[in-house]
Order: sequence, then structure tokens, then C-alpha cells
Amino acid sequence: MKVKNIIGVLALSAVLAACGNNAQENAKTGSNETKEEISVKEDSKDQAKSSESKEDQDSQKANEENVIYASFFPIYNLTKQIAGDKFEVKSFTNLKTESHGFEPSAKEIAELSTSKLMFVNGAGMEEWEEAVKNTVDIDIVNTSEGVDLIKASEDDHDHDHEDADHDHDHEDADHDHDHEDNDHHHDHEDGEEGHEHHHHHGEFDPHTWLDPANGKAQAKVIADKLSEVDPANKDYYMANYEKIAKELDDIVTEYKDKFKNVDNKKFIVPHQAFGYLAREFDLEQIPLNSLTSTGEADAKVLKEVSDLAKAEKIKTVFYEMGGSDKEAKTLADEIGAEAKPINTLEFATDEELSSNKTYQEMIKENLEAIYDSLS
Ligand SMILES: [Zn+2]
Repeated sequence: MKVKNIIGVLALSAVLAACGNNAQENAKTGSNETKEEISVKEDSKDQAKSSESKEDQDSQKANEENVIYASFFPIYNLTKQIAGDKFEVKSFTNLKTESHGFEPSAKEIAELSTSKLMFVNGAGMEEWEEAVKNTVDIDIVNTSEGVDLIKASEDDHDHDHEDADHDHDHEDADHDHDHEDNDHHHDHEDGEEGHEHHHHHGEFDPHTWLDPANGKAQAKVIADKLSEVDPANKDYYMANYEKIAKELDDIVTEYKDKFKNVDNKKFIVPHQAFGYLAREFDLEQIPLNSLTSTGEADAKVLKEVSDLAKAEKIKTVFYEMGGSDKEAKTLADEIGAEAKPINTLEFATDEELSSNKTYQEMIKENLEAIYDSLS
């Protein structure tokens, strides 16, 4: 009960901490990489982007029939595996930058008119979906339509936060002082207000793809749609899907079995992305950041996680693969644990792109890393 409460606090505090970070992330996204860079580094099938400007009208029209968009990395990876050599698959978001908080430019949205079809994750992951719908004529297919979605429970957060904050202050010797301190109280309210105005949580936890059982369902939606628009190649798409489905089934079976035998079910993650995975394998994530933020955690959250990790003897602090390990290392040092990478698949590393690593391989690596941290 107590642990649950703490986790409630973590979730909300993390949400509060998220506001400032998102701006940083956006700035990073804007300045870092260009789409050109990606198409150069990716394999040759994806070169169309850089050549688009040079294309004449005729080839543009031919493209329309042949190009499919996927919203971001996991959906792109699955779509490529299923479409094989029958379509050219492009990612709408830059594959190498964080997908949360992506705000496409008018030019980027206009590029979608080179295609008739786009697969998205859904569940609120693509905050830009409405803008696209209102601008270009493209069939947007929601791959998570059949998934049992987890509510983002913002109301619970607010409630938990107040409760938990209260409890904590009680345990704190400075409680009375803090409470009478007007500035402190004021700051807190400001922060919360800022959060509500600037942070756009959807209704649901968007991270469906991190659970392999969901990934299988989402792959099926892709295969069905491709079979519908290109029935001549239905057997091909279905065979590609079956291969993915078998691999994912095997992963689920293997890790359900493995996790059954571990006592400690808690793992520390960089942001609250592993809710579906935790539900599938009966585990519990302890997030340093909220549903949609990947920045630095709030000092208060770090303290709470640190206390919890010591009490639970947690031996690993995960950081975002391809991101900074600084915060995780600091926390790990403090609690006598190790910092290790975990993959949200929200962006891809150079290695993942150049080696054509599959979604299934990445999901399995995550589960093995978590299993390793618990046993
Ligand atoms: Zn996320």
C-alpha cells in the first residue's frame, strides 16, 4: 500500500517536472538533425526524401501509389518488415529524434501528400494527427485500435499528488515551516498551473508498442491494411506478419515464464513508458519522468526513488538507450546500483538503423535487460 502510494507520487511529480523539459526536447529536435541526414544514413530504399525536390510531376504521381508513411520508429520498423519490397516505407517523424512533443512544420505535413496511406501508433502518441487530417488527404490507420488501452489517469495523479505530498510533509521535520511559508506554497501552485497549461496529456498511456503482445496486434492491423490496398500480394504480407507474430509469441511465452520466478518485480525507468509491458508480465515500473517527458527528473522524485530503491534493493537504474546516462549514473551510485540502457523505441540509434535491427529483437533485448535486473 505504501509503495503504491509512493509510485503515485512519482508519477505526478514526474509530470510536474516534465514541463520545462519538453521545451528543451523540442529545441533539440528542431536544431539537431535534418531529414536529409536520415535518408543518407539509412539504407538505400529510403532515399526518396532527398530526391523529392528534384522529381518531376510524373514520378511524383507514381510515388503516390508506392509510398507509405509510418508515424515513428516502431511502426516504421514493423511496416517495413511487412511491406518488404512492395512499398517504399518512410517515417514521418525524424527517426533519430525523440517522438514525444514532435510538432511538424507545414512543409513536413505537405510532404505527406506524396502518399495515400499512413500507419500511426494511436492511443494519443501522435499529437499532430489532427493537424495532418485537417491538411492532407491521407488515410490514417490506427494500429492500436484493438489494444486494451491504459488510462492516463490525470485525475488520479492530481489526487495522489496532494495526498502523497501531504504524507511526505508530515514525515518531514520542516513540514510546519514549509506549510506556513507563503512563497513555497505559491511556487507549488504556479508549477501545477503551468503544467496544466503547457503539457498535453492524452486520455491514454500511448506506449502500447513496448508490449510484444500489443506489437503483434499492431502488426496484424498493418498486414490487413496492406492486403486490402494491394490484394494481389496478400499472401506475401500475411507471411511476413506470421513470421513476426511467431517471434513475438515466443518472446511472450519465454518471458512470462522467466518473470514468474522472480521475487522483485520493480524496475526503475527513465520515463513512464513501460505500463503495457508491466501489465503483460506482471511487473511494476518506477518512472523518473512522466508519460511524455524524457528530460531530467525532479529532485524530489529522485529522492523518493532513491529511498524506494534502497528499501527494495533494486540493482539497476535504466536510462534511455541512445540518451544521457548521467542522471541514472548519479542515482545508481547513490543506491549502489548500475546504470543500464533500456529502449523505448521512441527514436532509433545509428546502430539500430544501420544493422536493420527488428522491432522483435529490440523488444526481446528490453525484456532480457529487465529480467537481468530483477534476478
Ligand atoms: Zn514515451
